[in-house]
Amino acid sequence: MNKHFGTLHVLKDIDLSVARGEVVVVIGPSGGGKSTLCRVINRLEAIDSGGITFDGQALPAEGKALAQLRSEVGMVFQSFNLFSHKTILENVTLGPIKVRGIARQQAEQRGLELLERVGIASQAAKYPAQLSGGQQQRVAIARALAMDPKMILFDEPTSALDPEMVQEVLDVMVGLASDGMTMLVVTHEMGFARRAADRVVFMADGQIVEESEPEAFFTQPKSDRARDFLSKIL
Ligand code: ATP
Ligand code: MG
Repeated sequence: MNKHFGTLHVLKDIDLSVARGEVVVVIGPSGGGKSTLCRVINRLEAIDSGGITFDGQALPAEGKALAQLRSEVGMVFQSFNLFSHKTILENVTLGPIKVRGIARQQAEQRGLELLERVGIASQAAKYPAQLSGGQQQRVAIARALAMDPKMILFDEPTSALDPEMVQEVLDVMVGLASDGMTMLVVTHEMGFARRAADRVVFMADGQIVEESEPEAFFTQPKSDRARDFLSKIL
């Protein structure tokens, strides 16, 4: 699969599959194409050549099928992207009510269960600005879960957080991983990769440079690129 932005070849012959229930951590230097990789999976960006299949089907280009795909692939970004004028509970129930057509009462009940699961049920009636960054990111995860996604993409979910809030978000993600959620996670949090990843993919300059089990990747990277990168972040 290939992707260009004008003359910039940003994803070069990417060949990657994520199995159901698998947790894949993507790591690599800035500008390497990690975010773009996330964005092509739910077709926020189109690719130029090759193909992407999700759950056995080619990615739909438009219409209802595309909306369906996007509802099945959750996304959690660095910036939480919550609706600031809606309460925490409304943020979590909006998708199920509007996209899935679920009755309000049922959506709220499930929303509260999900907020409980991420440890913030007591904040349900507040607005995003009243919560800490870590709490807001946990709301964003609950919001993704509310759509019953088949997979969740995380693009540096903790890199905008104050250090003391990183762990509470990673703990929620580790919980999801052990519950069997299929996850593609762009992160430099090696503790998370070690605890939860089945595989680490190291990406640089638009290419997958190496793929390994986490322990092997962090202790014995195969490529000079990965060794060099790890020496800078460790
Ligand atoms: P970071 O670690 O900084 O988040 P990344 O690995 O996520 O980096 P991408 O955001 O995927 O990298 O960017 C890959 C390359 O594509 C970069 O050179 C970037 O400038 C370029 N790029 C990304 N989005 C666009 C766009 N919409 N138009 C043009 N170029 C883009
Ligand atoms: Mg990025």
